[in-house]
Amino acid sequence: MPIADYNTYCKMLENAFENNFAYPAINVTSEITANAALAAFQELKSDGIIQVSTGGGKFASGTAVGDMVLGAISIAEHIHRAAEKLDINVALHTDHCPPNAVDTFMIPLIEESERRVAEGKLPLYQSHMLDASGLPLEENLDLSVPIYERMAKIGQIIEIEAGVVGGEEDGAAGSDDTPAESLYTTPEDMVRVYERMGEVDGKYMFAATFGNVHGTYKPGAVKLRPKLLKEGQDAIKARFGDDAKFWLVFHGGSGSDKADIHETLDYGVIKMNVDTDCQYAFSRAIADHFFSNYDKVLMIDGEVGDKKKGYDPRVYLKAAEVAMADRVKEACEDLRCVGKTLAGAAVA
Ligand SMILES: [Zn+2]
Repeated sequence: MPIADYNTYCKMLENAFENNFAYPAINVTSEITANAALAAFQELKSDGIIQVSTGGGKFASGTAVGDMVLGAISIAEHIHRAAEKLDINVALHTDHCPPNAVDTFMIPLIEESERRVAEGKLPLYQSHMLDASGLPLEENLDLSVPIYERMAKIGQIIEIEAGVVGGEEDGAAGSDDTPAESLYTTPEDMVRVYERMGEVDGKYMFAATFGNVHGTYKPGAVKLRPKLLKEGQDAIKARFGDDAKFWLVFHGGSGSDKADIHETLDYGVIKMNVDTDCQYAFSRAIADHFFSNYDKVLMIDGEVGDKKKGYDPRVYLKAAEVAMADRVKEACEDLRCVGKTLAGAAVA
């Protein structure tokens, strides 16, 4: 299928909201990791979201170029073409863009999509996250709303965040000295987000924080309060009527308790970001290959190693792709999106 257009993407997200499931949003930094996500979605007949961060884009462009926009374009181009060969819907997204990277990452990518839409093509990316959660809420919204308006004109969805996600991911958001209360978005803030984002005729996703942390952590180190998400949904309904709702995003899905994940699905989470666990699955397979085959990978004691079974990068990178795809499949199962593809269904 071609990459999801605006109507398809909206229908995907609304279907997930109505039926209490969510899509994994898989961070990728190369063709190989993108292929792992695609393979998992295809095998499980699940639609899904693939996302690129500023650091991922820079990495993908290569050490000689080192351009986060160019890398994000290259990965997206690859996925546009590869997805055509599959029978599931995929949407492309960019992850955390802090305010100081808006002009150097997000806006150039929006411009690229504007050019494509002017030529009658789909936007390059279907959604972008603007993470101004480090700013006071009103400043966050003052920055986010005009960009949202611009994106909405070409059928793009914006994701914003209020409250800080703990931990660290590509330098995004929180840190060890993040005050504990800022890890939890208040219902009052959620009401304000709904009010301001309602100024634009478009669709958005909202990362409200409920104690979630990027990265993986030992059991008990993180106190998730999924009920906060329900309180936020209830608060906007009480204020703006029964039709009011948020499409919510769960950051820092790696290492989370399955019961907590399932609870969030009941409160309107429709996208969960999974990065760290996929990174580990990918690297674990490579470590396994190197430790188990070191005499094939290396030329030891005057021997020549083994090109075919040892050091041809395709051998271990393929194993890594398969291992990462397995972890993406686990995410699809956790999020209950297995078999839920809308590809083939009439999209109004
Ligand atoms: Zn995140």
